[in-house]
Amino acid sequence: MNVADSQRVGSALERLGYAFTGTAEEADVIVLNTCVVRQSAEDKAYGRLSSLKPLKRRKPGLVVNLMGCLVGIRDNEKLRARFPYVDVFSPPSDPGPLMAFLTQGEAQALESTRTTHISAALDGELVLPEHERGSLVSAHVPVVLGCSHACTFCIIPSRRGGERSRHLGDIAAEVRSLVAQGVKEVTLLGQIVDRYGRDIPGGPGLADLLRLLSQVEGLERIRFLTSHPNYFTQELMDAVAALDKVMPHIEIPIQAGDDAILKAMRRGYTQADYRRIVEQIRKHLPGSSIATDIIVGFPGETQAQFQRTYDLLAELRLDVAHLARYSTRPGTVAERRIPDDVPDEEKWRRFRLLEELQESIAGEINARYLGETVQVLFEENVRGRWRGRTPTNKLVFVESDENLRGVLRQVRVTWTGPWSMQAALPGKAPALLMQELIPLQT
Ligand code: SF4
Repeated sequence: MNVADSQRVGSALERLGYAFTGTAEEADVIVLNTCVVRQSAEDKAYGRLSSLKPLKRRKPGLVVNLMGCLVGIRDNEKLRARFPYVDVFSPPSDPGPLMAFLTQGEAQALESTRTTHISAALDGELVLPEHERGSLVSAHVPVVLGCSHACTFCIIPSRRGGERSRHLGDIAAEVRSLVAQGVKEVTLLGQIVDRYGRDIPGGPGLADLLRLLSQVEGLERIRFLTSHPNYFTQELMDAVAALDKVMPHIEIPIQAGDDAILKAMRRGYTQADYRRIVEQIRKHLPGSSIATDIIVGFPGETQAQFQRTYDLLAELRLDVAHLARYSTRPGTVAERRIPDDVPDEEKWRRFRLLEELQESIAGEINARYLGETVQVLFEENVRGRWRGRTPTNKLVFVESDENLRGVLRQVRVTWTGPWSMQAALPGKAPALLMQELIPLQT
């Protein structure tokens, strides 16, 4: 979501005549777009912000804009007091205050921060920033902003506001405009993307949106994330199965494998519900890949409860598990009501156990691709190798002198690891010692 938000800010700045620079020292405007989903992300944002202070002192005309979840949707007096060298504070997804500051001055920017929650820039077509126009292959398109759920560990609803779906026509216009600028794949984004349209009376659903976007000429692939076990409906599954452009990769977090922890998290489903959804996905979308999210060390999580998460992950054998150690987020229900009582070293221990387990599962799943021919959409050249993804979102590297950017190709897999694969173009022998190249983790 932040990548998409940053693109919009870049685009809005270019419309005012600004251009990207390679370094902070050269910049007239610095936008720091922040994430606070975990303590580590927040610490990083504060660290980066502090590092800008000497620069601002040397260059008083520099405009520093703090944006995103660190700011949140309400005016944040504490932040203003703590970082007086920040000129503009912008809520997530909203370039409005920065634009107001640059064109109308400080008072207007302050007013804009206090009154706008939804970005006007999200309602029109998106012109990509110049350095991405014609070269960006895969773009992120927010379709649902905010979230109206209240998972007890989660800070997102208070920072990004309640759920708001964008209009179908605006999304379609944006996707068409992205395709005209060279984009081949879009990933539709929402905290619970399956809930797209539910806040619009009589509104379309995600399946309708997928059907509409499938008709966009020149668009090769559509992905969407993140799904929720309670909203991944049969209709949606049928749409994914029926629409060739919609990729068979489902991101559907479980967060914990123990029912008492799931209840304390207020996730609204049980371990058995999640298991059923995975079965349904595998039945209706055979060959699809599934990714999940898991938090270890949620307050009160016992060894036995953690073991249930471990056992479930071992049983379900999902393609990807995004793992996180629980950290208290100020303003959440968990912060107010449940003491963070799992020691840090224990969180790390549980994290590493799941990490090792998932590494071996992913390694085994990916090994099945060895020798297979898969379709890859190539995105960019990384240190001499072309990088792309299979329909199931597996990362593939290919050595080639051809310009493969934006090209869809059938390739033969020659090496697999837990995090990536290597492949050869048809008719080409795999490069010598390819197996010894170290795969890059996503
Ligand atoms: S569904 Fe829960 S975890 Fe996801 S954004 Fe909403 S509150 Fe946060």
